[in-house]
Amino acid sequence: MLIETAKLPDFLLQKYPTAHNYKTDKNLYDYTLAIKNSYLKKSQPVSKVIYDGKIHVINNALGMHTFASRVQGSKLKSKNEIRIASVFKTAPEPFLRMIIVHELAHFKEKEHNKAFYKLCHYMEPAYHQLEFDTRLYLTCIDRFGKIYH
Ligand SMILES: [Zn+2]
Repeated sequence: MLIETAKLPDFLLQKYPTAHNYKTDKNLYDYTLAIKNSYLKKSQPVSKVIYDGKIHVINNALGMHTFASRVQGSKLKSKNEIRIASVFKTAPEPFLRMIIVHELAHFKEKEHNKAFYKLCHYMEPAYHQLEFDTRLYLTCIDRFGKIYH
């Protein structure tokens, strides 16, 4: 499917009319925990999930880890933090969900291998389409600025 860049805002707003309501870090954490508890209950706990304004989404060709980052330490306290680029604070819910699913899948699979994507697909059956549409969304923001509020 090819979409002219000029048509991206209309295309996205039609397919995903509204932004989610998980505006605070507390909302974001609860939302992430609900997904984790539904699908990955037995894996290691999530200690913190926050929006991070320091994650810059410059070139979406760089991949998912420009959207989010994870901090894992294993000394005294094991830490499983997920930081989501704050550009996703005003994004459609499916895009936020896709990124969270991606980061949660890394709790079990470090590499982007077959098992990893299988896990993503298990948590979100539309995962691949959403990953694609999220890239379109980032291209759109890059060109036209915010389209959701
Ligand atoms: Zn990844």
